[in-house]
Amino acid sequence: MAIQSVNPATGAVVRTFDALNGDEIEQRLALASATAAVYRRTTFAERAALLRRAADILDAERHEIAVTMTTEMGKTLRSAEAEAAKCAKGMRFYAEHAAAFLADETLADPGSVGASRAFGRYQPLGVVLAVMPWNFPLWQVVRFAAPALMAGNVGLLKHASNVPQCALYLEDLFRRAGFPEGAFQTLLIGAGQVEAVLRDPRVAAATVTGSEPAGQAVASVCGQEIKKTVLELGGSDPFVVMPSADVARAAEVAVTARCQNNGQSCIAAKRFIVHEDVYEQFAELFVAGMAALKVGDPMDPSTDIGPLATEGGRLDIEELLADAVKEGASILCGGTAPSGPGYFFPPTVVGDVTPAMRLHLEEAFGPLATLYRVPDIDAAIELANVTSFGLGSNAWTTDPAEQERFISDLVAGAVFLNGMVSSHPELPFGGVRRSGYGRELSAVGIREFCNLKTVWAG
Ligand code: NAP
Repeated sequence: MAIQSVNPATGAVVRTFDALNGDEIEQRLALASATAAVYRRTTFAERAALLRRAADILDAERHEIAVTMTTEMGKTLRSAEAEAAKCAKGMRFYAEHAAAFLADETLADPGSVGASRAFGRYQPLGVVLAVMPWNFPLWQVVRFAAPALMAGNVGLLKHASNVPQCALYLEDLFRRAGFPEGAFQTLLIGAGQVEAVLRDPRVAAATVTGSEPAGQAVASVCGQEIKKTVLELGGSDPFVVMPSADVARAAEVAVTARCQNNGQSCIAAKRFIVHEDVYEQFAELFVAGMAALKVGDPMDPSTDIGPLATEGGRLDIEELLADAVKEGASILCGGTAPSGPGYFFPPTVVGDVTPAMRLHLEEAFGPLATLYRVPDIDAAIELANVTSFGLGSNAWTTDPAEQERFISDLVAGAVFLNGMVSSHPELPFGGVRRSGYGRELSAVGIREFCNLKTVWAG
């Protein structure tokens, strides 16, 4: 895959970059390693000042970088600006809290282990490689970089090949904020060049946000090399609506939950599982809401949905839909890509879904929703858990007993009740099963790439 910015709204190639060669990668690895040895000795206060400066620069440049994001991957300019703002917030969050999150964990009664004092100390692992996707081209990176840099680690970014300008911007941002040369570097490399970087002894660990194949590839190499990994992979989040819910509100949020980021979010709700008592009401409102979204130029402030990021991404959606229709699914709205340039695809709702269809189990990474009718909560939970994923889940009910059932029995890294799954610096984020392992964000996220060193003193 070429390292190339292609405007998905027009299909025009904006810029093409050469991948780094072996010597260039070696220079960057050497710099990262040398910087890691020094950077780990900086204080939390020093790192926090740098990260706050990065946040300030990002705030000041929000519009410009949002234009770049929209041009590279098609998200609406409005949502790109919101993403940049979220990144600045995430940076400030870790600047403020990292020292407390990584404070020594002191054993209150050291005598119980025969010591005069005993504690755990979080220390950085060193150089961490981040393999990242294009869908939130700034946020996916920042949610790794902000805690990593605050922990005293050094970052290497292998970003998706279709967002090289965002990747270079991030390197430049951290440099201009005053981080030492080599504290955060972008490697413009293709997926095939990742293995050699992972095997390099100067790289301590890796984090992947992306598809299952990418996670498998990185984790298997890191398994051989005994290197820590965090995997944030795909999802097909359920959105369950029970009779006690505010159905109108659920339907409204369902539209946003499915179509955020032009439908290309790992935590987008993808399967809508509705109790039969409120199915007709929900279906009518949901389909109407989906059909009412305005698809078009992502730079236009009135646009709700821009193009999909790549031609291949749109083809994947079309293939999933064609397979479902062949097997008897009904299209309740949308379904046909408009003619003309750009990788646009309309919000689409599919009913009469059966297990024979690929859509039943596979992730639809675009504005394509499946709608199911269920008789009771047992059937809802069984269906919600039917895929091999386990990232987020949404459940709408005001019944406390039902809420407990969903919290207890949905197999997922997150359960959001009467709201849609979203990520926040304050809350852990991650999945189970084939959605991956490990957590990002919150105190847990910053500890993933630390050595918790046990200290025992006699
Ligand atoms: P992708 O193809 O897996 O790409 C993600 C990153 O992995 C890119 O940098 C890509 O590089 C790299 N990559 C791909 N194959 C690789 C390999 N064999 N070895 C090393 N690196 C490899 O993912 P995508 O299709 O662009 O992104 C969508 C997927 O990401 C969806 O499944 C979505 O659910 C998931 N996602 C998950 C989360 C989460 O937090 N759980 C968040 C966002 C997205 P190239 O671009 O050079 O191929």
